[in-house]
Amino acid sequence: MVYENPDGIRIGLEIHVQLNKLKTKMFCGCSTDYHNAAPNTHTCPICLGLPGTLPVLNKKVVEAAIKVGLALEGEIAEETQFHRKNYFYPDLPKGFQVTQYDFPIVSKGKIVIEGEDGEHVVGITRAHMEEDPGKLVHLGSIEKSKGVLIDYNRSGITLIETVTEPDMRSPKEARRFLDKFRNILEYLDVFDGNLEGAMRVDANVSVYWGTRVEVKNISSHKGVERALLYEIMRQKNVIRRGGKITLETRHFDEGRGVTISLRTKEEAEDYRYFREPDLMPMRVTDWIPAVRETLPELPDAKRSRFIEQYGITDMHARALTSKIMLADFYESVCAQGVDPKTTATWIADVFLGELNYRDLAISSFDEKKIGFIHTKDPEIENSFKVSDMVELVTFFAEGKISDRAAVEVIRSILDGKEEKTPLQIIEEKGLLKAESDLVSMAVEETIAENEAAVQDYLAGTEKSLNFLVGQVMKKTKGTADAKTARELIVKELRG
Ligand code: ZN
Ligand code: MN
Repeated sequence: MVYENPDGIRIGLEIHVQLNKLKTKMFCGCSTDYHNAAPNTHTCPICLGLPGTLPVLNKKVVEAAIKVGLALEGEIAEETQFHRKNYFYPDLPKGFQVTQYDFPIVSKGKIVIEGEDGEHVVGITRAHMEEDPGKLVHLGSIEKSKGVLIDYNRSGITLIETVTEPDMRSPKEARRFLDKFRNILEYLDVFDGNLEGAMRVDANVSVYWGTRVEVKNISSHKGVERALLYEIMRQKNVIRRGGKITLETRHFDEGRGVTISLRTKEEAEDYRYFREPDLMPMRVTDWIPAVRETLPELPDAKRSRFIEQYGITDMHARALTSKIMLADFYESVCAQGVDPKTTATWIADVFLGELNYRDLAISSFDEKKIGFIHTKDPEIENSFKVSDMVELVTFFAEGKISDRAAVEVIRSILDGKEEKTPLQIIEEKGLLKAESDLVSMAVEETIAENEAAVQDYLAGTEKSLNFLVGQVMKKTKGTADAKTARELIVKELRG
């Protein structure tokens, strides 16, 4: 199948990602943990941009940027340097942002996504390092706000700005790209996507191969898809009425689901970029081998390994590797000796579905359990233990609980206020299959698996019935009553 792209849609993304797993800021020693701090408590003369201060580059920032570049299969610049991007805004007290201009640290990378017509390559034009400005807190909605507060805790946190080629051909592809990108960054352990504002997206979109429009500052992946769907429809309508699309910047109103014109687009020249005189150009080529050593197994490689090692389907492997913590959870469960295929089904098909239904995001994994945050209510924190999944899959595989019961156990753990094991829930709710159910199931299986013995018995060989009873006893590990088993078999076969 070849995707024709009938409406000539081109989408390119500019993504600002906070390296929020780094402990300190880009040019000073202030903590990056601004989500749990009172406003303006993690600041110093450097990140407040006071006159006379000088930046000291955090080595970990450069290492992380190289790591991202290698994971995106990009080229790492031999020599890279910083520029000043000059503009005035209250969240930027220096009057300029330290960023990179014509010598970005990463160029020419790519990410492979599930596209409209199978695997699709999205080119990465460049990725560079820059500092985050402070955070503006509007009182009320952005349009009607009566005032603005500024929190400089965010000022000076490291951002990686990544620019893609306009290679995405539908809002769905754009969303898949973002999911994959976030996934890769989380594998690299430089980024926690659950934190608010950790990934901010600007989208460039055009229809009929025409002029592009930029939609600014979209905060969620779902928001990007919605903003693009709206903007594509708007552009098509303008053209149908004989109008023209002009190069402009628009803002996406999440609440109303529409884009609103902000201004005509600024050009690079407007920012009067010039070399940052306080930071020397760097040669980072020598760092690359050491950083390469620290690269973990990335999503695509892990997916192939899961298919090979556990014999699971591509679809299951895709779902299980879509989050590093989920992949680790799956492997920890498998390591306890339960069947990998059954486990894959329960985690990828059922467990993930129940999480999505509850809008729960996986927030941590620590060898024993996987933790969640409720995106609507950060106070609710549930967890699901590796041992819970092992117990559940074992009960199910041994035929002691039905699949409906197993789903109920998962739901109870996710919704429960106190910690309970699957066994406790099964006992409390009486979910265990009755003894007679177990025997009937064993009888059914035995009949299905022993075609020859069944035929012999039906032809009059009484001995074959003894053999079949023996098989049922074996399946039930001797717990069935032999007389009941015999009666059930006869009833099944003779009616
Ligand atoms: Zn500081
Ligand atoms: Mn930027």
